[in-house]
Amino acid sequence: MIDTQSAARVVVLTYHGMNVGGHGYAENDHRAFETDLALLRDADVPILPLRAVARCIAEGRPLDRSGVALSCDDGSWFDWHDLEHPTWGAQKSLRGILTEQLEPAQRHLTSFVIASPDDRAELDRTCMLGCGWWGDEWWPDAHAAGIDVQNHSWDHNHSTLAETAAGTSVRGRFDVVETTAAADAEIAEAGRYIAARTGRPADLFAYPYGECNRFLRDDYLPSAQARHGLCAAFTTEPRPLETGSPRWALPRYVCGPDWSQPDELRALLRDALGRASI
Ligand SMILES: [Zn+2]
Repeated sequence: MIDTQSAARVVVLTYHGMNVGGHGYAENDHRAFETDLALLRDADVPILPLRAVARCIAEGRPLDRSGVALSCDDGSWFDWHDLEHPTWGAQKSLRGILTEQLEPAQRHLTSFVIASPDDRAELDRTCMLGCGWWGDEWWPDAHAAGIDVQNHSWDHNHSTLAETAAGTSVRGRFDVVETTAAADAEIAEAGRYIAARTGRPADLFAYPYGECNRFLRDDYLPSAQARHGLCAAFTTEPRPLETGSPRWALPRYVCGPDWSQPDELRALLRDALGRASI
């Protein structure tokens, strides 16, 4: 017997608001996001809240609906504010695009943010534009605009920081977080800060660089829930999410590496969702 419920699949798409290197789809995630939302709207693809999808997986329930869930990473001002890029001009925020392109019931975007205010200020200088565009004053208002602010670690264990909470000598990757102390500092502490700032649970985690490891996936995240309060975690393994997908290593597709033209997204969605046309 075919269980039609368990055949449901969700494609989680990921964008980076600070990817602005030109005006075209392949060089500018704002342009890609706008084009893709129009494509999804015109094809009547349901946009699902990522948190509801994750709760289904966490509770062992079958996914009841196929669709797309939207996410964006790092949490710079490009997610929320319209900004004048010094080289590439006016950039509409991801929030603005979400509002313009989708009906209110479809407006669901999960923004995985870097929690630490000091490290965001340092990253703003070391790997963005040095314009002070990485504040968190917008987080409390995000939910009302359809944006769920969630956990992307304390400091991304980023390579351009002088030191990071993980306390490892190796930075620029996340699979080196291999002790409870390092995981508490990077994950649990970030969740507490974000929840306090937004007034809402921070119970989804996206691994920086998309990288998990056996310690985080099989040991820390399943066993330390009382401390980190998470419900599920996301990698950047490019596969559809389905009933039975691994709760602490759920897949996502990333704009750029996994598709860089609208036709590639159409093909990806046709394959993943089993639809004849999109
Ligand atoms: Zn990131």
